[in-house]
Amino acid sequence: MPSIIVHYQEIALKGKNRSWFMGRLVRNLRQAVAGLDVRAVRSLMGRIELVLGPGATREQVGDRIRRTFGVANFSYAARTPLDLDALTAAILRDLEGRTPSSFRVSVKRADKRFPMTSPQIEREVGGRIQEARGWRVDLENAELAIHVELLTTEAFYFFGKERGPGGLPTGTAGRVLCLLSGGIDSPVAAHRMMKRGCAVTFVHFHSYPILSRASIEKARQLVTLLTEWQHRSRLYLVPFGDIQQQVLLTVPGPMRVIVYRRLMLRIAEAIAQTRRAQAIVTGDVVGQVASQTLENLAVVGHVATLPLFRPLIGMDKEEITAEAIRLGTFPISIIPDQDCCTLFTPRNPQTRARLADIEAAEAALPIDALVDAAVRDAALEEFEFPVAMIGLKAEVKA
Ligand code: ATP
Ligand code: MG
Repeated sequence: MPSIIVHYQEIALKGKNRSWFMGRLVRNLRQAVAGLDVRAVRSLMGRIELVLGPGATREQVGDRIRRTFGVANFSYAARTPLDLDALTAAILRDLEGRTPSSFRVSVKRADKRFPMTSPQIEREVGGRIQEARGWRVDLENAELAIHVELLTTEAFYFFGKERGPGGLPTGTAGRVLCLLSGGIDSPVAAHRMMKRGCAVTFVHFHSYPILSRASIEKARQLVTLLTEWQHRSRLYLVPFGDIQQQVLLTVPGPMRVIVYRRLMLRIAEAIAQTRRAQAIVTGDVVGQVASQTLENLAVVGHVATLPLFRPLIGMDKEEITAEAIRLGTFPISIIPDQDCCTLFTPRNPQTRARLADIEAAEAALPIDALVDAAVRDAALEEFEFPVAMIGLKAEVKA
């Protein structure tokens, strides 16, 4: 049966936690290929083998592996007995019909007991292929790279390698909570944290029914897409309109966006506690919009008690947009919606908020009660990949 051989890189460096990282990556790969005809996913002397059944196509399985963090690269492989005659014959058979202008053979021995060194095997197998086909050997820029990996009783060979997404296996770094708007930035910020091994829980604030449901639907679509990278997600949909109406009564217009953001952060932290999330993530970028001056970021961040991560902080919009396009979130993010942050706010919000002024403006608000009510009224939705969305769950109990 054909196999896919997965190589990991960074986790190989993780010292004494290595077997735990490996176990997690194997588990994540199993989850990633759920529903496909993959007969086994197993760790094999420094690489992971996925054994494909006849019902699975390489493309299907490759597509899932491409979205599994921790994978450095992968290849479609075949196996032979640990014997150079059998190996060379199998490679030549598989290369039938190919006419590369140059090739090279790279050998790795997982089990060093094989009586020849890797360079010796490369020369031997390479020589036989050259003799049989007459192709030119090019060690630097070969058109066809033939990889051979020798284990204890068998060998794998494969042609070329496909890049994986890199990063660390999802879940190995703990949980974070991401404030997900319907915009371009926050989904990219969430994805970056996933890449570093974080499991991400999502919170979206909306002003339905004062504004349309568009932002809720966008948040759902974004989480559906991002769940392909972590397999399970929770989205908390927090009604924010009532809170905004209260803010309207006591907080001067130019300060409202800052106060909204501080309330969002407090509510997000309360939800983070119920999920044992260890940090909050936003898509903030210095200077991108009026609410993102250093002064305002500081005044907003002041209410945080958990670490507040802003992974895009120093990026250009162009760079973030390019990443959103690659990720596939961009077309969802640009669907028109009504951003709850602009509700009841003037066109020119304060750009240099002062903490004392904001705190004074907030003094008239029943902050704790607002936060408790928001957490209580949040609706929880769960998402799963590859399985479809489970559906609306019961309201969150505070
Ligand atoms: P984005 O593209 O992520 O919306 P932006 O450039 O539009 O970012 P802002 O709208 O100022 O910037 O939002 C900054 C950050 O605040 C967002 O990246 C997100 O993390 C958080 N945020 C803003 N609005 C919401 C919301 N309605 N629900 C959840 N988080 C939000
Ligand atoms: Mg936004």
